Amino acid sequence: MVTAAMQGHLNPMLRFAKRLVSNGVHVTLATTELARQRMLKHNTFTSQNTTIQLEFFSDGLSLEFDREKNLELFVESLRTTASKNLSDLVTNLAKDNKFSCMIVNGFMPWWADVAAEHGIPAAMLWNQASAIYSIYYHYFKHPDLFLDLENPKGVVQLPGMPLLKIEDLPSFIFPTKNACMTKLVSEFVQYLDKVKWVLGVSVYELEKEIVKSMASLTPIRPIGPLVSSILLGKEETVPLKVDMWNAEDYCIEWLNNQPPSSVIYVSFGSMKVLSQKQMDNIAIGLKKSNKPFLWVVKPPEKGSERKAGELPLGFLEETEGIGLVVSWCSQEKVLMHQAVACFMTHCGWNSTLETVVAGVPVIAYPEWTDQLTNAKLLTDVFKVGVRIRNGEDGVAGAEEVERCIVEVIDGPRAAEIKKRAMELKEAAKKAVEDGGSSEHNFNQFIDEIARKPCRAL
Ligand code: UDP
Repeated sequence: MVTAAMQGHLNPMLRFAKRLVSNGVHVTLATTELARQRMLKHNTFTSQNTTIQLEFFSDGLSLEFDREKNLELFVESLRTTASKNLSDLVTNLAKDNKFSCMIVNGFMPWWADVAAEHGIPAAMLWNQASAIYSIYYHYFKHPDLFLDLENPKGVVQLPGMPLLKIEDLPSFIFPTKNACMTKLVSEFVQYLDKVKWVLGVSVYELEKEIVKSMASLTPIRPIGPLVSSILLGKEETVPLKVDMWNAEDYCIEWLNNQPPSSVIYVSFGSMKVLSQKQMDNIAIGLKKSNKPFLWVVKPPEKGSERKAGELPLGFLEETEGIGLVVSWCSQEKVLMHQAVACFMTHCGWNSTLETVVAGVPVIAYPEWTDQLTNAKLLTDVFKVGVRIRNGEDGVAGAEEVERCIVEVIDGPRAAEIKKRAMELKEAAKKAVEDGGSSEHNFNQFIDEIARKPCRAL
């Protein structure tokens, strides 16, 4: 398995690796050096005796290089230098291993070429919603379905999906906003013809019509929810972690002292850096709601030039005893804690799946990429939350933050939202049980790679 060192990409790969290992498959997980450096720096590197072999290769850039700011250079380096380094690593590893499959991340599709170069069949793990898979597929294969993109009131109708407004579409299909990511997504679609399997981290039951609509095109087989076994209420049999930051676990003790279903959990994932205005408005909204909160404010990486907003002066003192601010937490442990009432999320796909499996209602606060579509899914398709609306200045105001908190916890729709969240939680868990949709696709994949003769060395 191969993926670049981004928490949102590493997590599903690792969870998939653990599931494979628990089913008797040998797994080597290779990621970029940045992960090892960060794990060493934050003391989260555990060289436990695990059944997953961790390997690292360089993405060709220094540790300090600001990858998010220089996205184009970063992607180019992954495409070229990292591919070369990965190939060297595979050559080395192949001395002692016979690989029957190489699983690549959909956002690093060219690594399927490395697999081909070494005569290894490739699978792609699509670590976003099946809806996004379908949108990208149709956008590049049937552009005629997307004629109205210039019109802010335009809509797009795709098979198995509700009518999508422009604001619901993933930002990577708009080349003027992010040309290098549009190019990357087009490469992803081209590589779908080169890989033998496309596996999805989502759950069939959550996106049934969409998955069915892709069956006659390039099928995606959902093997999700790819969340950790703890969240699924199962025992963790493979203890390996690849956390690039240190979780401040005292927040769990803090949650233990809060009333059931009372706490607002606020987190924007591993990469988002909030502006000062966003910080101020969230802080005021939280304070006004007068409810307990746990807020993850992750500082930007060293070397990052992005100016991060800071907590308003005096906020920590004023909210002492009511709220807690940490720099990173064990999100899954937090989400499954009975004290948590709702999750204000940027709608990254991992966070989306995790909250669905935990049965926690959301306040969707998306910004770009697939987050915009995930917010639509969460609020209008799954119906497990409300979407925050930006004001004219492009930022959600403090009153809007407060309004959403009240609506999702105490509003007239709150009970219905919670009921729906509990129903989806059950459906997601069922998928990974014996006879479930995810279990079926997963077993089929193992059968197929096992049947495939290993490359003769
Ligand atoms: N996460 C975490 N602790 C935090 C914040 C996030 O463990 O304090 C994890 C979260 O559980 C998820 C991942 O980081 O698995 C974030 O992935 P997501 O796709 O939601 O967002 P991204 O970071 O890719 O924007």
